[in-house]
Amino acid sequence: MPGPNIPFYLHHLGEREARSVAEVLKTPMLTTGAEVAAFERDFARYLGVREVVGLTSCTDALHLALYALGLGPGDEVITTPQTFIATFHVILRVGATPVLVDVEPDTGLIGPEAVRTAITTRTRAILPVHLYGRMCDMRGLGALADEHGLFIVEDAAHCVEGRRDGIRPGQAADMACFSFYATKNLTSGEGGAIALQDAERAARLRRLRVHGLSLSAEDRHAGAAPHYDVQEFGFKCNMSNLQAALLNPQLPGIAARHARRTALEARMRARLTGVPGIALPPTVPPGETHAHHLLVIFVPAERRAAIIAGLRQRGIGTAINFQALHRFTAVRRLGRWREGDFPVAERIADTALTLPFYPRLTDEQADAICDAVRATI
Ligand SMILES: *Cc1c(COP(=O)(O)O)cnc(C)c1O
Repeated sequence: MPGPNIPFYLHHLGEREARSVAEVLKTPMLTTGAEVAAFERDFARYLGVREVVGLTSCTDALHLALYALGLGPGDEVITTPQTFIATFHVILRVGATPVLVDVEPDTGLIGPEAVRTAITTRTRAILPVHLYGRMCDMRGLGALADEHGLFIVEDAAHCVEGRRDGIRPGQAADMACFSFYATKNLTSGEGGAIALQDAERAARLRRLRVHGLSLSAEDRHAGAAPHYDVQEFGFKCNMSNLQAALLNPQLPGIAARHARRTALEARMRARLTGVPGIALPPTVPPGETHAHHLLVIFVPAERRAAIIAGLRQRGIGTAINFQALHRFTAVRRLGRWREGDFPVAERIADTALTLPFYPRLTDEQADAICDAVRATI
């Protein structure tokens, strides 16, 4: 069957990014240096936070954040079953215990009420995920964290542009972690960052991202001092100048690309509204900004495989975000949860269908996607 042939994702990088990388290649400094420092400064300014620390992935950002907070064996971290596996795995990686609470049916987010019921004497942190780009109730979670003396680390992989109650990622939590993976709203193929307000903690994170060295490669290259110390062991997850060179030209265009995503979302929502069998996530209330990372619709579970196949025949790529974590074999082997434990996350996992959605989509392509969904359903 001939179709519109629309891939699941196309990046928006072009000549500017190519020139920016070419400039770095003319310098000797390919690892962490001036380009990374410029990215950290400008992304922090964009987010309205004091500090950004550039890393190699959001997975490493989440891991480093939990590690820097001193979390380990015996500590419980409350998070959501409706997310990417990385959110969960980093808790195990520091030796702490993940505690899952079900998400709210209309938003797919964990809220303060559910989190409250899971707090024990061992709880040390909350790890909320701003699913699809919609922000969690950071005011409510912040009040709960204050009440119980808990840390908050945000998984903001979907949420560069989000805002709720006047709060943006990184502003009301201990740390917020971002992803610059190939399909994210900002991308360097692979990459990540932590946004935070505490300059001293940021300095420690900059040491921990390179084995705990007291001097950066740039300091050593500049001849500041030939010897460095290692005061504590760290990891190896520092962003390179090449990654930052890809990211820097994208920063001035965040608002324009977000406006395009917002317009596309409204167009596709209007075209899909009222189609029997399709449900859409609710729109956010006025005053709240959805980052519009993913466009997810909900279809009858028993029809989803056929719809995906029908779209594939027309050349339209799709994804599922996300399988509920407790259904993965490796998570099941932990022996902590069973099918039925998180009915809302399970229902999202069974019915969610992510459509192609990126600034390069034309209006005609957006219409063609919606019409193909309508035809296959
Ligand atoms: C993409 C993603 C991550 C992981 O990001 P990486 O940069 O690939 O490590 C974590 N959490 C969520 C919700 C994601 O979508």
